[in-house]
Amino acid sequence: MTGPRQPSGAPYTALRLTTAPGTPTEEWCAVCKAYSRLAGALLLLAPGGVSTIGTYSWCDICEDPADQRGRDHG
Ligand SMILES: [Zn+2]
Repeated sequence: MTGPRQPSGAPYTALRLTTAPGTPTEEWCAVCKAYSRLAGALLLLAPGGVSTIGTYSWCDICEDPADQRGRDHG
């Protein structure tokens, strides 16, 4: 069984990239006045190894759309 080959004759290698969230850490949210914000690193799992491609942060309270309705002012 022979697979497709590049013009150079080298066989194609399947490139499988997977992103995965790193272990999140709790951070202080100045809006909620609580440690409700999760922050972590975005990891790229590639055949050559694992590399960090960015970071993310997300607040469980003030970035929840369902929590925006009916919020009192003040
Ligand atoms: Zn918040």
